[in-house]
Amino acid sequence: MSTLRGKGIRDERVLRAMEAIPRDIFLPPESRAEAYRDGPLPIGEGQTISQPYIVARMTELLEPVATDRVLEIGAGCGYQTAILCKLVAHVYAVERIPALARQARRHLRELGISNVTIRSFDGTYGWLRHAPFAGILAAAVGPEIPGPWLEQLSPNGRLVLPVEIEDDQRLLRIRRAREGGFVREDFGAVRFVPLIGWHGFS
Ligand code: SAH
Repeated sequence: MSTLRGKGIRDERVLRAMEAIPRDIFLPPESRAEAYRDGPLPIGEGQTISQPYIVARMTELLEPVATDRVLEIGAGCGYQTAILCKLVAHVYAVERIPALARQARRHLRELGISNVTIRSFDGTYGWLRHAPFAGILAAAVGPEIPGPWLEQLSPNGRLVLPVEIEDDQRLLRIRRAREGGFVREDFGAVRFVPLIGWHGFS
């Protein structure tokens, strides 16, 4: 975790969660040897597990609080999900590809994590049934910010996501101000797989 600290991650709770969750169990056997290199890796179905630095960075930007209920879009194999589960009360995780959602469920069970609900559907609609959320984190990049995600944020809720802007991908944080309206911050260039769905790419 000294590398994450060196790369600028400051939130001690996030650093501790990153230390507590082993990354190798989320990977197919052929990639396990590389589990602790700070880079993305394939997890099957043409998808990737995010780079640990970006997982830590997005988690930090989400400003997780122990009582929060959080929505995660693009759970993949469940690595980011597991980190979030260490930091908040409950994680509602959506993954478009059923085989990956099943993997994620198995991995979290292996780790004894139970404050999570994982379903397979188009997460660009959010998850109205469990809204509003104190935090929403998306690990796939779309052409715009899906409207339902903004609508499903609680007052002072944070949405952390990549968005495609003029052929560039930018990491954004959108905060729903208590007085109403949204505050948007840009945290630089990133690389993500496409968000596929109604409010994403077709
Ligand atoms: N969070 C993962 C990264 C997974 S990659 C990690 O910890 O490493 C992003 C995932 O988003 C892919 O698995 C992809 O299938 C999924 N995805 C893409 N569009 C989606 C959508 N509309 N709803 C839910 N998941 C989606």
